[in-house]
Amino acid sequence: MPISAPRPALIDRFGRRITYLRLSITDRCDFRCNYCMAETMQFLPRHRILSLEECLRVARIFVDLGVSKIRITGGEPLVRKNALWLLERLSTLPGLKELVLTTNGSQLERYALPLRQAGVRRINISLDSLDPARFRAMTRVGDLARVLGGIEAALRAGFDAIKLNTVMMRGVNDSELESLTQFAVNRGIDIAFIEEMPLGAVDHRRGDTYFSSDAALARLRHRFDLVPSTKNTGGPARYWRVAHSPTQVGFISPHSHNFCADCNRVRVTCQGELFPCLGQDERVDLMAPLRRHPDDDVPLRQAIAAAMGIKPEGHDFDLAQPRPKIVRFMSMTGG
Ligand code: SAM
Ligand code: SF4
Repeated sequence: MPISAPRPALIDRFGRRITYLRLSITDRCDFRCNYCMAETMQFLPRHRILSLEECLRVARIFVDLGVSKIRITGGEPLVRKNALWLLERLSTLPGLKELVLTTNGSQLERYALPLRQAGVRRINISLDSLDPARFRAMTRVGDLARVLGGIEAALRAGFDAIKLNTVMMRGVNDSELESLTQFAVNRGIDIAFIEEMPLGAVDHRRGDTYFSSDAALARLRHRFDLVPSTKNTGGPARYWRVAHSPTQVGFISPHSHNFCADCNRVRVTCQGELFPCLGQDERVDLMAPLRRHPDDDVPLRQAIAAAMGIKPEGHDFDLAQPRPKIVRFMSMTGG
């Protein structure tokens, strides 16, 4: 029997193997969450955005280089026209084991079933509040009823797993940690609480709204019987299982429990910038090799390989600074 060549792998200077790509397909969004964006945003013109064909080509090359998980994100990925076209094709890429999506849920009543049928197995839905007025204030424009309808549609569509994502903000939504967890428990789905990251200048001081994972965990343990979970996503979340329930509660703690040593991911923005770290400015441009060499993947593969040489050891978020070091908003890089 012939011995097949080993699959190429993306390994950075610190020996971390990159197996996970987060691909942002738009910088646009129908919400304006106050921790993610400024109130008025300038979005990119269409010609500076990767076409869906270009997104597919980038994804195919990453998979060829050993990536086994892709998350489609944004901005809000479901406001991108024909997003399903891309997802259907991604789900058939040989070698891709997991195709997942992060969404604000606003379009899920319409798209949950088509997404499942397109091959998306798991989705993350952002939900920061169960109070309509607070939800509106945090998202600036969002309609809670629509998102809740989207979550129910996702439950009916039969995804393998649904996880809620909640950004914790002291004095804003920290009073809802228990009710949001109960909401997840009632539906048998997971929830992850995220410490707010200083990405882009927003209209509040991030240090003032910082709520730590440890404080959240301590509070939740008063109300729920939480047992340490063995669930490991190869990512930054630490999970606890709610006893007698399928629900897992995760904590993503960029400030209090740095997770960079285990980082297995890179991000590609909708304008074709490859960011090896969410919290640093190093990047490699993929747009030029993509467009200059439409029929030759070698320059693109070389650009991706070059990014392994500049992946930083970690982020150094500093909430004490009045201005964030990273001026890109989360919606630009893709959360
Ligand atoms: N629009 C989709 C959504 O909201 O789920 C996908 C993109 S959004 C940028 C991805 C995730 O990043 C969301 O769960 C959001 O809450 C989170 N996020 C945005 N800005 C953040 C920040 N400054 N710190 C921590 N998480 C943030
Ligand atoms: Fe839009 Fe998601 Fe950012 Fe909220 S967190 S503004 S929904 S991209």
